[in-house]
Amino acid sequence: MVSQIVDFHHDPVNGGFFTTRLFWDCECPDGYLYIHSVHTEKCEVCGTHQDDAPDARLNEVILHQAAWGLDEQDVETALNQAALEPIPF
Ligand SMILES: [Zn+2]
Repeated sequence: MVSQIVDFHHDPVNGGFFTTRLFWDCECPDGYLYIHSVHTEKCEVCGTHQDDAPDARLNEVILHQAAWGLDEQDVETALNQAALEPIPF
């Protein structure tokens, strides 16, 4: 089990955002299913491999969770850890 599953990224424009290692972004454009579970190795549509892909943004995971059937347990685990994460200001 990976202990560190969320990372906070500071952004001077909007304060920052979390990414989570439980999900990753492939290179499919907006409108396509571009967030994948860490248990999925590769996107069958664009061919992006998980090892070459960035972690997904937590807010986008939440946004698309229902429509794309993302793993509820993994989303909850990431959310719980994000809530505990000290935000470095
Ligand atoms: Zn893709």
